[in-house]
Amino acid sequence: MSDTDDRPVLFRNGLVLTMDDAHTILQGGDVLVTGDRITEVGVSLTAPEQAVEIDATGGIIMPGMIDTHRHMWQTAMRAYGADWTLTQYFVWYYLESGKLFRPEDIYAGNLLSAIESLEAGVTTTVDWSHGLQTPQHADAAVDALEAVPGRFVLGYGNIQQGPWEWSASDGFRDFVNRRISAGNDMLGFQMAFDVTGDPAFPEKAAFEVARELDVPVTTHAGVWGATNDDGIRLMHENGFMTPRNIYVHAATLTHDSYHRIAATGGSVSLATESEQSAGQGYPTSHALREHDIPISLSMDTSVWWSGDLFSAMRTTLGADRSRVHLDAHARGDTVTQHYLRAEHVVDWATRGGSKALGMDAAVGSLEAGKKADIVLIKNDDSPVMFPLLNPYGHVAFQAQRGDVDTVMVNGRIVKRDRKLVGVDLPAARRDVEATVDYLIGAMGREAWEKGMYPDIPETKIQENPYTYTDWDSGSAQWKQ
Ligand SMILES: [Zn+2]
Repeated sequence: MSDTDDRPVLFRNGLVLTMDDAHTILQGGDVLVTGDRITEVGVSLTAPEQAVEIDATGGIIMPGMIDTHRHMWQTAMRAYGADWTLTQYFVWYYLESGKLFRPEDIYAGNLLSAIESLEAGVTTTVDWSHGLQTPQHADAAVDALEAVPGRFVLGYGNIQQGPWEWSASDGFRDFVNRRISAGNDMLGFQMAFDVTGDPAFPEKAAFEVARELDVPVTTHAGVWGATNDDGIRLMHENGFMTPRNIYVHAATLTHDSYHRIAATGGSVSLATESEQSAGQGYPTSHALREHDIPISLSMDTSVWWSGDLFSAMRTTLGADRSRVHLDAHARGDTVTQHYLRAEHVVDWATRGGSKALGMDAAVGSLEAGKKADIVLIKNDDSPVMFPLLNPYGHVAFQAQRGDVDTVMVNGRIVKRDRKLVGVDLPAARRDVEATVDYLIGAMGREAWEKGMYPDIPETKIQENPYTYTDWDSGSAQWKQ
């Protein structure tokens, strides 16, 4: 905890991206925080008595970022699956080894992921928690989220059972009664499950539980080989598509599904890095644009990627523009103007998230009356921080998590001078190391290594008519 408890905090003289409805930008702007709320946003504000001033000169003040889909428990295996496809991910977690995770392993992954969020300026994170095999696992997940001063939404799931099974259990009901309270904007709640497209629609029972509990459903939709238009159609025909639904990926879908999502007011969580590497389908912002479907951003899982929305913004811009160029080239056209702007992805990383989560009255922009979730991007040691000309472009393409100088959540400073405040990182490290040791022991060293380094398919090197015959061209790089 910082020494600013109970004292007003004034962010002074930064470039303020308010992300309000008009996307107002203030040069040399100030943001005043009193208690847990933003009380004033303007220029040359008067500092109240006792205020702590944070010099934002040369920096960008923006709302805390919001990640609408992350399997936080998987952070315990950071980067293990860097070379996986989605198939390998499914085999590892769903079929073979996911059930090895004990409550303490869920805790370890969640704790590290939650700390990582704060460090990167992600002030609200949806924990798409589909490793909750028992209510004890769920308690461990929430224990970790509550141990870190960030804002979280627990998406309750369990890949070891059908959602119609776990959602009907007494343990689930009891957990919700004990740990979740409506109106707690530090810990929200969703139900997290997928709809396979089985014509019998067994997921219907789980949707009915969600309706009875009055909680949103988040679902991986349009995932190549796993979920498709049938799932969307079943949800729609049975009346379970609402504005509160979040459709994660929504990649491998036809126009018909996008029409249904748009017509019922739902939003899509794009996890572009995931879609590009794992194979859910091409990141779909270009299609969502044509259907006017709202978008938020997410990182999916740190078994591949880090919980860093700067990279989400960057890859989303790249993927969208790449697609538009390729489509145009296929028609013999040249793209001369971009549809997708840096401003859009900054909006998706902030307001897009708050709207998707139904939290827009509380967070997502820097406006008087909102909860104080604030990020200051500033790094006087970095040659990348100037000139500061196009602030959205600067956030999306120039800044990185190491440039996050100050992070405030709910009025509390959790990172200052590029250092986390009041976080016991060594304890988080010990917990994660214990989980890794346990998993290696449970799987056996050989299986552990084999899981990390899947086989590489053979690359057929093309015949090259220009190759010199007396030169040993090519390395062993692409050969097994
Ligand atoms: Zn996911």
